[in-house]
Amino acid sequence: MSLIVQKYGGTSVGTPERILNVARRILETKQAGHQVVAVVSAMSGVTNRLIELADEVTGDSKPSEREMDVLLSTGEQTTIALTAMALNAMGAKAVSLTGAQAGIETDGVHTKARISTISPAGVHELLDDDHIVILAGFQGKTSDGKITTLGRGGSDLTAIAMAAAIEADLCQIFTDVDGVYTCDPRVVPNAQKIPEISYDEMLEMASSGTKVMQSRSVEFAKKFGVPFEVRSSLNTNPGTLVKEETMSMESVVIRGVSLERAQAKVTISNVQDFPGSASRVFGAVAEANIMVDMIVQNVSHTSSTDISFTLSKDDVAQAQSVLAPVIAELGEDTTIEATDGIAKLSVVGIGMRSHSGVASEMFAALAEAGINIQMISTSEIKISVTVAEDDIDKAAKVVHDAFDLG
Ligand code: ADP
Ligand code: ASP
Ligand code: MG
Repeated sequence: MSLIVQKYGGTSVGTPERILNVARRILETKQAGHQVVAVVSAMSGVTNRLIELADEVTGDSKPSEREMDVLLSTGEQTTIALTAMALNAMGAKAVSLTGAQAGIETDGVHTKARISTISPAGVHELLDDDHIVILAGFQGKTSDGKITTLGRGGSDLTAIAMAAAIEADLCQIFTDVDGVYTCDPRVVPNAQKIPEISYDEMLEMASSGTKVMQSRSVEFAKKFGVPFEVRSSLNTNPGTLVKEETMSMESVVIRGVSLERAQAKVTISNVQDFPGSASRVFGAVAEANIMVDMIVQNVSHTSSTDISFTLSKDDVAQAQSVLAPVIAELGEDTTIEATDGIAKLSVVGIGMRSHSGVASEMFAALAEAGINIQMISTSEIKISVTVAEDDIDKAAKVVHDAFDLG
């Protein structure tokens, strides 16, 4: 008997028929003699619809993040009840739990809370009593009982964190594709399924736009050593195993290509070039919990310089408002400008550590396709560029081809 955590994403539970399909799969696992905790997401489209509803009732003022979490958590709460009902109707013994009921405690950063502890005694008790546990993804509670959510795609994190807490033998992330591909198969049709990938590569891909896994969930899996499989809820094909790096993995130079749309660039010009300027800019942005991605500071030839950074288009207005007082202090001529319509393309692979020439090959492929590179950043195992958003699909295809990933 194994203890298995399974996670079913929004599309996998998107209709009553899909919920019945998921219930059957969970039941098969239970009937094969295993203990099962199944984490489910909101039915596809529900979280987005809830966000739209909040916008409709609040107009120009931003809804309170505390109430946002109360609202968003209902999406998953609907699915756990329906999945447990479906299983019970099949004669199984299933029980639904919200994040709070399952002992998932978080910090108080509403809408992107971090898990602080999990007290899984209740879950173990239900499993020992032969129940199937259906757990709401994406949510938890603060130590003083406020409902929180874990950021978009957060059900992946619920599954991986619960697998770590209950020391599960297996963690399976079921989704609407057969696994992790060399690029989003919706954009690059000849993308190939990757049989296994290291945590570091999956993390770099997830944090550069490969939304098949939430990046924070991969970070957690790496930190606590939780191997997991990504596979389809609609067939039984083998998926992708995400695990600790092995020797043979380094022989592949580029594991995959990621793309991220809806990015924006903020440029602060004429910043006085003295210690502390960058710290004030990024301190203000960090305090507002805004995630900054690429940062470029020009070499200064005079006493002032320019700083540019990229961020999600959705965060631009807030970044401009928290930066307004900082800009005023940084210098009389300091100005701020934001542009959107930007997307990011990244190539990722641990083999890059021991191979040179990857950047030039990537840039050559883009140049040949007539695509202009706006910004560049690199890490040990990743090279990212920003391009016009209109060019991103073509950019992904030519770079994917250039590295023979198809
Ligand atoms: P779920 O609702 O199951 O959490 P998501 O929509 O979050 O599913 O993630 C699955 C989607 O991720 C796929 O439908 C696919 O379009 C997209 N995706 C992006 N990049 C990749 C990739 N490299 N490999 C597989 N899927 C990818
Ligand atoms: N329902 C949440 C979302 O759409 C969480 C998830 O699906 O993982 O982001
Ligand atoms: Mg997801």
